Amino acid sequence: MHFALNEDQIAVRDMAREFAAEKIAPHAVRWDEEKHFPVDVMREAAKLGMGGVYIRDDVGGSALTRFDAALIFEALAQGCPTVSAFISIHNMASWMIDAYGNDTQRQKWLPKLCTMELLASYCLTEPGSGSDAAALRTRAVRDGDHYVLNGQKQFISGAGKGDLYVVMVRTGADGPGGISTLVIEGDTPGLSFGANERKMGWNAQPTRAFWKAARRIPGAAVSSRRHGDGTGGGADVCVARGGSARPQGRGCDHAVRDGQALWHRCRL
Ligand SMILES: Cc1cc2nc3c(=O)[nH]c(=O)nc-3n(C[C@H](O)[C@H](O)[C@H](O)COP(=O)(O)OP(=O)(O)OC[C@H]3O[C@@H](n4cnc5c(N)ncnc54)[C@H](O)[C@@H]3O)c2cc1C
Repeated sequence: MHFALNEDQIAVRDMAREFAAEKIAPHAVRWDEEKHFPVDVMREAAKLGMGGVYIRDDVGGSALTRFDAALIFEALAQGCPTVSAFISIHNMASWMIDAYGNDTQRQKWLPKLCTMELLASYCLTEPGSGSDAAALRTRAVRDGDHYVLNGQKQFISGAGKGDLYVVMVRTGADGPGGISTLVIEGDTPGLSFGANERKMGWNAQPTRAFWKAARRIPGAAVSSRRHGDGTGGGADVCVARGGSARPQGRGCDHAVRDGQALWHRCRL
């Protein structure tokens, strides 16, 4: 099979390569030595469209493809794999809001995520389940206008520096069908973070655990019994935040009835 990049793909790749060569590579060793998280440089990358590569353009995204993203992140990694990985993770977390959030959520968060004025972390891994994502155990239980989270997330890139945490939690039964997704603002009371991990390389981003025991997360929160049989919602995007919350969302009768949630069905 013959395969070749088209002109647009070559242009996208070369743009990222040039950025990596000029703005990242010359500093990568120092950033690693100094454990420096180069947010300013990542925001420069975002000005070129790399903060929201496959986010829709009505909220400032570049509306490119996952394939374009692979070209970009491979090129950026030639400058520094750590920085490239963080931008990739930020894109992945932002995309979940773009794909499955309601319009209010998209308009609120995504313009600032695409410019990387806000940084997003993707919180899936746990000490007990690792790469077996469907086995995650962090549980989120509704308690009035709070969510009680019990568990621990591990190896979270950007943790402690992030503005938004896109967190996979168990709200239903075992297996992939019982998992929901919360979007938690970084300044939400009750969040706590572990120490920056000791790593061999990969130091240009903080990587931490967060919350080790039960935490009450105030504000909006959610719930997700979309089957009405207590098995959990497959996966729903909910938003937890520090302030008051108004019911929103489309097709989310339970949430609106509860008067708290901002959520939208998604899949993992
Ligand atoms: C620097 C750094 C940053 C990270 N950032 C994030 C982040 O931002 N968000 C996040 O959610 N996670 C993050 N992670 C976690 C990373 O995604 C996990 O390390 C990864 O999911 C693997 O989990 P684990 O380390 O527990 O390995 P394990 O799950 O223990 O797997 C170890 C090895 O065993 C293999 N394996 C596991 N189970 C099986 C099986 N049943 N059969 C055959 N082989 C198997 C795996 O493929 C792997 O090669 C980060 C990790 C690091 C080191």
